[in-house]
Amino acid sequence: EQEELKKLIEVKTVTKAGKRVEVCGNIGKASDVDQVIANGGDGIGLFRTEFLYMDRDQAPTEEEQYEAYKHVLEKISGPVVIRTLDIGGDKTLPYLPLPQEMNPFLGYRAIRLCLDRKEIFKVQLRALLRASVYGDLRVMFPMISGIQEFEQAKAVVEECKAELTAEGKKFSDTIQWGIMVEIPAAAVMADELAKHVDFFSIGTNDLIQYTLAADRMSEKVSYLYNPMHPAVLRLIKMTIDGAHSQGKWCGMCGEMAGDETAIPTLVEYGLDEFSMSATSILNAKKLIMEN
Ligand code: PEP
Ligand code: MG
Repeated sequence: EQEELKKLIEVKTVTKAGKRVEVCGNIGKASDVDQVIANGGDGIGLFRTEFLYMDRDQAPTEEEQYEAYKHVLEKISGPVVIRTLDIGGDKTLPYLPLPQEMNPFLGYRAIRLCLDRKEIFKVQLRALLRASVYGDLRVMFPMISGIQEFEQAKAVVEECKAELTAEGKKFSDTIQWGIMVEIPAAAVMADELAKHVDFFSIGTNDLIQYTLAADRMSEKVSYLYNPMHPAVLRLIKMTIDGAHSQGKWCGMCGEMAGDETAIPTLVEYGLDEFSMSATSILNAKKLIMEN
């Protein structure tokens, strides 16, 4: 069976209906790209950059980040979706004191923190822009609840571009800018948001917990945490349809993208890109081709 799956490493994934889909890998550090390549991934669908910031006593410099992003872009010939810093919630940093909150998952995290701490955000955006010349970079912002946050983030990007231009540093003008759809409000408004962004990536780990009000970390309510709940499925369908109504692509980078029981439904809904841990890629390719 493993041998059969290995044959799919070089195979492009096409559904029964003849639609080409991308099957990509999720990574947490630059060296993880090797595993994705070895398992036949078409690209990177989620680089969780917060891991570059963790287990150290100060934030990574622009240069360190630039090297990490460049490494991934140079190694991967397909698309590379890098997510900007998603800290807060369950993830904290020793050098970045966060407020004590009753509900950190509903609080100061991800894009909310980055828009508030622009000096931190800009270091990352400058590194991403500089690395963009080495491949097909797509940047996405986490925890977007509405268009204003996306526009604010893009304004910070413009500031960084102006600085780099003044410094004579190069960046690509074909970077795609997208958002994670992981807050129900974004899924409901997907057709409107799609007018402004280049792509969506559905973060089901958070989307499910917010839709069903069931903490993704809590054993006690895990029986409620159901990817196949009809409300979750409707939001996913609305997001994909919303993207397509504006000619944009829609991916998924939450655990559900690699879930055998969910894949047939996601294929039926027309999901364009599936991103998951490297070890799930080959099995997912097989299932997608059977559906
Ligand atoms: C998600 O929420 O589905 C996701 C991919 O992001 P994370 O698991 O890092 O919150
Ligand atoms: Mg998330």
